[in-house]
Amino acid sequence: MNNDVGAIRILVVDDERDIREGSERILKRIGFIVHIADRGDVALKVAKEVHPAIVLLDLKMPGMDGMEVLEHIRQMDEGILVIVITGYATVETAITAMKQGAYDFIPKPFEPDQLRIVVNRAAEKIRLTRDARKLEEEKTRTLSDLDTEKSRIRSIIESLPDGVLVTNASGKVVLINPSCKHLLNLDPDMGPGRQIEDYVQDETLSKLVMEISKGRHVDYDDIPDHEFILPTDTYLRARAQPVLGERKECLGAVLNFVDITTMKVLDRLKSEFVAKVSHELRSPLSTIHEQLAMVIGDLVNTTPQQDHHILTRAKEKTQGMISLIGDLLDLSRIEEGIICHEPKSIRLDDLLTNIVDFLSSRAAASRQTLTLNLPPHPLPEITADPLALESIFGNLITNAINYTQEGGRIRVDVDMAGINIRVKVVDNGFGMAEKHLDKIFDRFYRVKDDRTRYITGTGLGLPIVKGLVDSLGGIIEVESTPGEGSTFTVLLPAQNS
Ligand code: ADP
Repeated sequence: MNNDVGAIRILVVDDERDIREGSERILKRIGFIVHIADRGDVALKVAKEVHPAIVLLDLKMPGMDGMEVLEHIRQMDEGILVIVITGYATVETAITAMKQGAYDFIPKPFEPDQLRIVVNRAAEKIRLTRDARKLEEEKTRTLSDLDTEKSRIRSIIESLPDGVLVTNASGKVVLINPSCKHLLNLDPDMGPGRQIEDYVQDETLSKLVMEISKGRHVDYDDIPDHEFILPTDTYLRARAQPVLGERKECLGAVLNFVDITTMKVLDRLKSEFVAKVSHELRSPLSTIHEQLAMVIGDLVNTTPQQDHHILTRAKEKTQGMISLIGDLLDLSRIEEGIICHEPKSIRLDDLLTNIVDFLSSRAAASRQTLTLNLPPHPLPEITADPLALESIFGNLITNAINYTQEGGRIRVDVDMAGINIRVKVVDNGFGMAEKHLDKIFDRFYRVKDDRTRYITGTGLGLPIVKGLVDSLGGIIEVESTPGEGSTFTVLLPAQNS
């Protein structure tokens, strides 16, 4: 069949010259490409050469008659539409021709309009058939493109150096890449299809993945990274996220595993070093401090005023060094994971009330207001070392007091955020520029400007707070605007959630 898009070829076969040439003229005028033949055998030859889409075929011709030509054309290509031309007397033959596969017929003699109508109807059918075929081809192409895209994404996931594991909404593993099996020490032939705990031998992580898979973290950006150690002494960090559908419904969870063993070993060596140095420094410094105190006490009435001042300054400095070393030791203990060694069930409302009561006098000394806003319903308990929680909130509230001007306001707001207890320490104090915000949790980092320069501190408070929050499986975030104040938000997972 003719493959030209748009232009349709017609072959007019008639032994009557007037009809042949008359039809050719009419059809050319309305845009068809027209070929003519005056006999059956000639028609078949032309048809083979030009592949017409439509054949106008006179049934009564000398030599090979129309019916025979029709049969040959049908054999050549069933898609060619044959319109038979027939006299009134041979309508019956026309009907027989239709039964043999002719598409339509036009009685002789015919008006130009009749010819146009019949041929246009056939041409329309051809166009529709071509359009349908084009659509079908496009559909096949799109499907095969999709197929290629799918296998390309699959190959990329398969070759990722990080471990990737995906669960469905009921916590069943539906995808696991080779790196993930390698990192988790699984049999390379182990495929997807089982529950998450069969792949991850860490109860906390399995529980977290189940919760995410069931959609408990969809509305909150509060999923902590989870670090765990395998029996082979490999440390892994898992980062998990819900997989959301178009309507934000949870379809499951995706996990990314990274080997952090080298980082952990370096970190441990560093902590051990700091711990050792701190230990070595602490005793001699304490001795110097005590001796200075004794000397100052003894000489208070005999030494000139200036010497007394120098000794007092020296004593203050040694006190500063002792608390710095204390902080360093705390930090090393947190990093070694031995600070939270006595976890208990704790009611955070009571603990915060005590801390706020305790620090109120310090705030009052700077004419600051310090208020605690608890939710109307009692908070769920959390499992933690009470000293760790005191250190976290004590540090944050003390900072808010230290870095807020006289007469400022400090609020501690507590509420629930999903499965977490959320505590916000809000002040309207000095605030910090954006560039400092991701550095203040680094050791020894302090923001130095005209307002903070003379405030003493070690720059270790926030690293301690962060270390403790991490060890409790929580998250800490900060927002701050210079001159307007800061908000530190702590999210801690509640018990039995
Ligand atoms: P320190 O208070 O001993 O300097 P921290 O680690 O607690 O150490 O805090 C680090 C720095 O972060 C502080 O020096 C201070 O510049 C800034 N900072 C902490 N809390 C606040 C706050 N509430 N408002 C403004 N700046 C703060």
